[in-house]
Amino acid sequence: MINRISKRLLHHSIPLGSDFSHIVIGGGIVGIATAAELQKVKGNNVLLVEKNDSLGQETTSRNSEVIHAGIYYPSSSLKAQLCIAGKNKIYDAWSKGNFQVNLQKCGKWVVAQDEVEEEYLHKLKQNSDELGVPTELISTKKAKDLHPLIGANKAILESPTTGIISAHDYVLFHEGRFENNGGTIGLNSKVKDITYNEGNRNYSVLIESDGEQMEMTSDNIVNSAGLYAAEIANLVLPQESRYDYYFAKGNYFSYTPETPIGKVTTKLIYPCPNPNASSLGTHLTFDLGGQLKFGPDLEWLNTTNPNNIDYTPNPKNLKAAYEAVKTYFPAITENSLHPSYSGVRPKLLSAEENKKQFADFIIKEETNLPGFINLLGIESPGLTASWAIAEYIKNIYHK
Ligand SMILES: Cc1cc2nc3c(=O)[nH]c(=O)nc-3n(C[C@H](O)[C@H](O)[C@H](O)COP(=O)(O)OP(=O)(O)OC[C@H]3O[C@@H](n4cnc5c(N)ncnc54)[C@H](O)[C@@H]3O)c2cc1C
Repeated sequence: MINRISKRLLHHSIPLGSDFSHIVIGGGIVGIATAAELQKVKGNNVLLVEKNDSLGQETTSRNSEVIHAGIYYPSSSLKAQLCIAGKNKIYDAWSKGNFQVNLQKCGKWVVAQDEVEEEYLHKLKQNSDELGVPTELISTKKAKDLHPLIGANKAILESPTTGIISAHDYVLFHEGRFENNGGTIGLNSKVKDITYNEGNRNYSVLIESDGEQMEMTSDNIVNSAGLYAAEIANLVLPQESRYDYYFAKGNYFSYTPETPIGKVTTKLIYPCPNPNASSLGTHLTFDLGGQLKFGPDLEWLNTTNPNNIDYTPNPKNLKAAYEAVKTYFPAITENSLHPSYSGVRPKLLSAEENKKQFADFIIKEETNLPGFINLLGIESPGLTASWAIAEYIKNIYHK
């Protein structure tokens, strides 16, 4: 791993005269997967720039670590297509046995408590059928026999391809692919400014690394800066094309097991999402060590400055989380829940707009900025989709 980008690296120059063929901004799971995919292409010479001292420290390590099946989104959306493709890539690599990433294909239940939710589950089943993702409606009796502590009054939809994965291992997996193919990583390196050089058809990127500023040039830029991506995009976009953006925090609550975990469930448990919310609802997941947790909830933040985000989980939300969890885990007690951690979703639509329309991932090469690809609104299922997002970007460059 290279901690500091130095002028030494400039000998990698490619024919056009730029220092790199691609600079990928942001070393979360999406950035490192993309860098690894691009570096595989003969002739490419990719630099990944990350402002923190290691990869994957931001949203990539603040999520549920669920491999989503991809059943919730409209079939034409990037979220559906890239989630399913990303999931398949993970399980394919896993089944071949050469994938050093800890995961468990545990499956999940989406549970309905009344007629309205039951109808929603039937629609969800129909959507998964259309997408070709296996799901099965199971009887409340069968569910009760299997997991008597889980409350599902009306119906249960089982998704057998849902799983859990170590996000940390997954980052290391792509980091290994990238470095083995000769890619360059600059840690502690923050992108401060970007300029498009129309004459050379390349970009100058101002990077601050260990207190020093340096300029690197690249033929192409991938902006995969997560919560900072809109801010980075707006550095180069003309006023009229700039992005508005918002943040929505998700708080998690840990569980002091009054009931041994193994007795509660072997499946992840999701309620039916509230149709007016832009999240899947406070659900029950467990990590690879078997620790149960509940969340994330949805709390819109007042700030649009990612540096001002307070990740302390909000204890005021505990009561609402308890009420939500009680619907499908009636034996839970309020004092067995404890604020644990939080993650923040990058949003391009406001809370109000989110109620009215579906928000897809935005992955696009900007008009009049050749080779500049922005990735915006990469919220869930971005971890699952990351490898497929990487391939999608490679295909934009190498049609
Ligand atoms: C609460 C929550 C739960 C979720 N649960 C799931 C789930 O269970 N399953 C799933 O598939 N997805 C889930 N997601 C989504 C998933 O976590 C994200 O889509 C994914 O981690 C996004 O990765 P990223 O690389 O785009 O962003 P990040 O991980 O945020 O990485 C962006 C990187 O860019 C760097 N950066 C920013 N600005 C600069 C700069 N100027 N210079 C250099 N570097 C910079 C940052 O330091 C950061 O490391 C969840 C998200 C949230 C918020």
